Amino acid sequence: MHPLASPPAPPVDLSVIIPIYNEEANIPALYERLRGVLDPMQLPGGYEFIFINDGSRDHSLVLIQTLALRDPRVRYLDFSRNFGHQIAVTAGLDRAGGQAVCIIDADLQDPPELIPQLLEKLREGYEVVYAKRRSRQGESAAKKLTAKLFYRILASITHISIPVDTGDFRVISRKVVEALRRMPEQNKFIRGQISWIGYRQTYLEYDRAERAGGETGYTYRKMFKLALDGITAFSDVPLKAATVSGFIVSGIAFLVMLYTLYSRFVTKEYEPGWPSLMVSILFLGGVQLIAVGIIGEYIARLSANVRQRPLYIVSDSNLPEPPAQPQR
Ligand code: UDP
Ligand code: MG
Repeated sequence: MHPLASPPAPPVDLSVIIPIYNEEANIPALYERLRGVLDPMQLPGGYEFIFINDGSRDHSLVLIQTLALRDPRVRYLDFSRNFGHQIAVTAGLDRAGGQAVCIIDADLQDPPELIPQLLEKLREGYEVVYAKRRSRQGESAAKKLTAKLFYRILASITHISIPVDTGDFRVISRKVVEALRRMPEQNKFIRGQISWIGYRQTYLEYDRAERAGGETGYTYRKMFKLALDGITAFSDVPLKAATVSGFIVSGIAFLVMLYTLYSRFVTKEYEPGWPSLMVSILFLGGVQLIAVGIIGEYIARLSANVRQRPLYIVSDSNLPEPPAQPQR
């Protein structure tokens, strides 16, 4: 077995991963609503909550600890500082023992009432069921616009199809959790990683509510970092942009050169000086961009290797497992 793949927790039917950053206003209501949904489902293997306190500066941790005293299904991790939402979810995935795992925001923007439907789809044979926002309430126009733009840009420059207008609210199977654990990359963009993993994926649509209480923990800085992580982890297009622009500029230089020669020798209508200057500036600019682009190509390959992703994920086979690889 892969050294990272040992299930650390006793298996349950469902693990609910909840990243927490300054959510004291929402934790009690969230817990009640989750129980209200999960208890009636009477999952034979039971369920667990995994709260990850991502360096909250309010009383979130105390609230979680109080819940854990009363309810043994409440498990928690307390980070030494704020490491960010994606890292918090990753830590939850590392600890989750569930046959299915649900990732949900703590602010009740993701309705827990959708979980039974998500699980139902999983039982139909899908490995990933994500929740797609049909509408979003109570968020600033700027946030909606930047999110919309980001998802469209990302979709247009990556090869894998990362679903637009979805957050991390979703239910995934054990298989997908194990595959995620085999992706040791440093800059996490979990929804992209899950798309990359493949298998049968589907979605359900929902209307995203307003944040129940408290304030968003996603500052523009954190959003920008998430966007950059997503783009750099799943696209080489920015790195290769220099090559493309290099060829365009060189092409223009060539056309200008032809035009200059034509005016110098055929029409004889020309200003001395500027054409040669223009041509050499454009030409040199183009050559430089191409050189930068070549470096970009190497860096793209370097970064692909540094990510240490598995080369492929197998869905089914009648071959025996290969012998374990020596650890690098
Ligand atoms: N969160 C986190 N660490 C952070 C920021 C946010 O764990 O640094 C959690 C937060 O508590 C919530 C989820 O990630 O459960 C989504 O964050 P938020 O609701 O602030 O994001 P938004 O919905 O505004 O995009
Ligand atoms: Mg939110």
